[in-house]
Amino acid sequence: MTDTDEDLEWLDDLENLDSYLLTEVIVNKLPQCDTCFAYKRLVGIPAAYDGKTKKGPWAYMCQECFEIYGVGLGLGKGHRFVRWNSEE
Ligand SMILES: [Zn+2]
Repeated sequence: MTDTDEDLEWLDDLENLDSYLLTEVIVNKLPQCDTCFAYKRLVGIPAAYDGKTKKGPWAYMCQECFEIYGVGLGLGKGHRFVRWNSEE
């Protein structure tokens, strides 16, 4: 189904070395889940990830969509959103 992982094998060591910096993005406001809108016409679902999908293009994904469509975390694969003001 997918052959995109081969190109990224060299990144595995790098991920382990500094996984937090590579896989987390601090944001003020969570974007909307693109994938819920594209597949289910749901709007306003907060995204938890910005990542590459199994279909190829990058998209904002909520937890559920990431588990279905995401290819994983790391440089060139995906990042998890972390809200810096989550204690509001
Ligand atoms: Zn979603």
